[in-house]
Amino acid sequence: MLGTFITLNIYDSDVDEGIVDNCFELVSQYEKMFSYYDSSSELYQLNQNAYKNPFKVSDEMYDIITESLDYCRKTDGAFDIGLGRLIEIWDKAVISSKPPNSDEISDYIGFKGYEHIVVNGIDKTVYFSDERVSIHLGACAKGFVQDKAVTFLKECGVKSALLDFGGSIYALGTKDSKPFSIGITDPTSESELAGAVQITDLSVVTSGNYRRFFEYNGVVYHHIIDSATAFPSQSDINGVSVICESAFKSDCLSTASFVLGAESAEALLSDENCGYVIITDESVRSNGVIFKNEK
Ligand code: ADP
Ligand code: MG
Repeated sequence: MLGTFITLNIYDSDVDEGIVDNCFELVSQYEKMFSYYDSSSELYQLNQNAYKNPFKVSDEMYDIITESLDYCRKTDGAFDIGLGRLIEIWDKAVISSKPPNSDEISDYIGFKGYEHIVVNGIDKTVYFSDERVSIHLGACAKGFVQDKAVTFLKECGVKSALLDFGGSIYALGTKDSKPFSIGITDPTSESELAGAVQITDLSVVTSGNYRRFFEYNGVVYHHIIDSATAFPSQSDINGVSVICESAFKSDCLSTASFVLGAESAEALLSDENCGYVIITDESVRSNGVIFKNEK
């Protein structure tokens, strides 16, 4: 689901097993809403219609868009939900394992999609003031839905659980009275760990260049796009993990950090009171989080 594998581990001994099915059902409903390519999704309908006229959206769609726009602004577009059309071009490139021609992407170099997304909170509509805009939630929907799943589990009385949404982890409570220990993959060698963070009631979300990419003429093209160049980001970061109480916030900021590069990412994440582990070729940087480097 949500383009990845989702694993729920619930450690309480006395919960109704139906909770797991209900939680997956919840995730599946959000997937139907936020899917970019599914023509029956709300997001697809929005993208088809919002350029010509303001489009009325559901409360949840309104929330994810407005909350995302805050992070687009805070990161000066390093995270930008308005780059859907450019992402489509790069999605096709992944399928054909060949980068796009420069004329295909030239209109998007330096284009900040989010600046042309206009929201109206009274009637909950969304409008695009530039026809190059479409909304893609690939960098934040997983975190958003994970937070909803956590809320649901808590409402069901769950006290101890680990939710793994493919690279986005949330640790609810403790396990055997201890914080959860979450391994951080070494981006240069996926079978090894760079270390581990100890967390409770926190999310840890990782963006990296080592999972989704293709190679063409010896150049590696991964899946996180820098709108300044309309190309995959060339920052010094190989992997960045962001730790905070909201998986949505961690998801937005890990993507942004990856584009910004280690130095700006450290400043942003400190400002936002997040823990982090940033891995470059030269260094592993981390702050307040309990991070054990196992190398
Ligand atoms: P993952 O999906 O691997 O967990 P991310 O959360 O970093 O990683 O999201 C990457 C996805 O977000 C890409 O596959 C693409 O669909 C979309 N995307 C790529 N670049 C950006 C960007 N600069 N801002 C927002 N979304 C992006
Ligand atoms: Mg993300």
